[in-house]
Amino acid sequence: MARCFVARRIPGPALGRLEDAHDVEVWPHRLPPTPDELRERAAGAEGLLSLLTDQVDEALLDATPDLRAISNYAVGTDNVDLDAARARGIAVGNTPDVLTDATADLAFALLLALARRLPEGERDVREGRWVTFEPDHALGTEVTGATLGIVGLGRIGKAVARRAEGFDMEVLHAGRSGGVALEELLERSDFVTLHCPLTPETRHLIGTEALARMKPTALLVNTARGPIVDPDALLHALHTRAIAGAALDVTDPEPLPGEHPLLEAPNLLVVPHIGSATVRTRHRMTEIAVANLLAGLAGEPMPHGVS
Ligand code: NAP
Repeated sequence: MARCFVARRIPGPALGRLEDAHDVEVWPHRLPPTPDELRERAAGAEGLLSLLTDQVDEALLDATPDLRAISNYAVGTDNVDLDAARARGIAVGNTPDVLTDATADLAFALLLALARRLPEGERDVREGRWVTFEPDHALGTEVTGATLGIVGLGRIGKAVARRAEGFDMEVLHAGRSGGVALEELLERSDFVTLHCPLTPETRHLIGTEALARMKPTALLVNTARGPIVDPDALLHALHTRAIAGAALDVTDPEPLPGEHPLLEAPNLLVVPHIGSATVRTRHRMTEIAVANLLAGLAGEPMPHGVS
């Protein structure tokens, strides 16, 4: 029986399989452990189930010398220092595939909501500002037939492209191994949606220069990771109408503090990192995260190992 630390309560019955096999402590609070609390609680653990809100860095790995397996409850592994884990012989796993459709659905929901000005319309109705049907009121951007630019045509990017087919959209994509140049994608797209991982190369990929290339009528959707977009550049682009709007599931910082200037920017729709937040998907993520940890602790290859 190995000692495992699970950095938050995660939904679904599969966690019971881990508890049956090992000595499991689950962080019980709503907020994630601070780095100090994580180091303290994970010390002595052989297995760690981490979330994207936990920094699994050198400092943590130095404080957890018994660690043999890390299972990250996300497909992105930008919160884990993979090189440091590899150097210590620690297996790392993630939860790909099962969250692809839920995240692609959310990207499309954001795209449609922003294009058709849903948040503004809902506020107007509730607050009594809408008085009658008006021919030139609340005119949005037509989604059907528009050009969609997908940055990162991986699992989620492809699922978004499949949805775009139903809207007769022209789909462009940019990535390291194919598609058009990012510059061309930005210049031609009516909607730009981000689906690349956060890496040193993609941090602030969408900054001042990229935003300036977009059409002033174009809309940006980010369901990938917050720091892929430079928040200062986005703030400026929204205020100067260099682009027409943005919808963010992920932000930098995350969450945005209540007084953050982006929250006052025109045409910004922001939701609380809910890309994978459906009952079925979160349960399936738990199943995979547990399967990864059980395999790693048994010295077997993880079903979804990343290093
Ligand atoms: P994936 O299958 O690995 O796809 C990522 C794609 O990004 C790859 O096709 C890759 O293609 C491309 N890419 C890598 N570096 C790039 C660069 N510098 N410029 C442009 N494209 C680049 O991953 P996925 O499962 O689709 O997930 C994608 C990301 O979505 C995850 O890393 C995660 O951060 C995020 N995500 C967010 C949520 C949420 O809750 N909001 C949920 C799930 C996932 P090339 O190798 O050809 O470049």
